[in-house]
Amino acid sequence: MEFKSLREWLEILREDGILKTVNRPVKLVHELAAVAKKADGKYCVFFEDVSGAAMPIVAGIASSRKMFARALGVSVDELVETFSTAQSNPGECIMVERESAPVKEVIEPEVDLHKLPIPTHHEKDGGPYITAGVLVSRDPSTGIRNLSIHRLQVLEKNRLGILILPRHLWQFLQMAEAAKKPLEVAISIGLDPILMLSSQAITPFGVDEYMIAGALYRKPLELVKCETVDLEVPAHAEIVLEGTILPDVREIEGPFGEYPKYYGPASLKPVLSVSAITRRKEPIYQTIVPATMEHMLLGAIPREGGMLQVIRNAVPNAVGVHLTPGGTCRYHVVVSIDKLNEGEPKNAMFAAFSSSQEIKRVVVVDKDVDIFDPVDVEWAIATRFQAASDTMIVQRAMGNKLDPSSDDGISDKMGIDATIPLGADPFRFERIRIPGENSLRLEDYIDKPQK
Ligand code: MN
Repeated sequence: MEFKSLREWLEILREDGILKTVNRPVKLVHELAAVAKKADGKYCVFFEDVSGAAMPIVAGIASSRKMFARALGVSVDELVETFSTAQSNPGECIMVERESAPVKEVIEPEVDLHKLPIPTHHEKDGGPYITAGVLVSRDPSTGIRNLSIHRLQVLEKNRLGILILPRHLWQFLQMAEAAKKPLEVAISIGLDPILMLSSQAITPFGVDEYMIAGALYRKPLELVKCETVDLEVPAHAEIVLEGTILPDVREIEGPFGEYPKYYGPASLKPVLSVSAITRRKEPIYQTIVPATMEHMLLGAIPREGGMLQVIRNAVPNAVGVHLTPGGTCRYHVVVSIDKLNEGEPKNAMFAAFSSSQEIKRVVVVDKDVDIFDPVDVEWAIATRFQAASDTMIVQRAMGNKLDPSSDDGISDKMGIDATIPLGADPFRFERIRIPGENSLRLEDYIDKPQK
């Protein structure tokens, strides 16, 4: 299956019966988000008639592991490995002329963000937010591109408030501000799951995430030059906003309902000044409702891919990792290993903590445990773990500021070793099993008419 744009991906979802159209009028404030949230994990929703909107809006373009696996053309079991492989074997990008780039069909004569149908999602949000924009910027020292997604609050018709967590874009802004220079950016809205996922890769400094998308497409990603900034954007995006982050300017942004299912508070944040808008003739606006499985998995799958690599450096026999939905797909991870030496669970914990500062709790299980099944994981903790000897606690490391239990981001960490001791009597830990149970079909036995 091949696609290279949001609309081609939507066609695939339509054929699969996953794309559902809403043609009754829907309000941009709260109602659209409520409908999209109800459909989360099941359907992609295409809103044809949003009050006051000059274009349709789509939400939920991939909200289950199955949908992301479909986009990558692999099985659910291969999803994380596939992303991880693309991350270490980047693909290519090619430049196309403006004439071959649909996102250049219209160059708006005037910048007015109020003309875009930007939804307000949660009850106490500070206002309308762009939530599905992939921002590209350039390292001021090396010129290498970086992709990231940020919450963007509409402050004025040409100004956005932006939350920048201390990652790559934050470092670029530090450099630009030290030189008293604006930082050029471009934001693409209306992209397919491959570009959305690639933008979330957890990579070392200096990796161009467009190249990861190139690997996942298995063909070069087509980019086109921006009009007012020295950057490149996907030629098949729906809408592009170009602009600069202003040096040393801070304005109030927030509150905003975030992935931990709490509000990120209002505070002074950097400001992005928009210099140009380009778009397709009849664009589709895309939004992601925060804290939905769509939002959580966009963070989880790339993190799991990166984490598996880091854990395998420490424990080569690591089998799988899962950032659990109950742990916000960021804070709690389950790692399965094929344990060969006592002590490996602790090495796996160290590696998991070092792979992402957001990790608060690591549960290490044996490879027979289904890391995606919370009941199986809890069963392993209940029957293979003793708190006094199998817990590791680290106090006051760096965590995540959006965790309200943290001390402004400073957080404790816990590791739980729920693996069977190597010297244990194997029968003591033998899982009960009924021969034939797995292959038996209940329909073949019940409610059969008597002959
Ligand atoms: Mn990066």
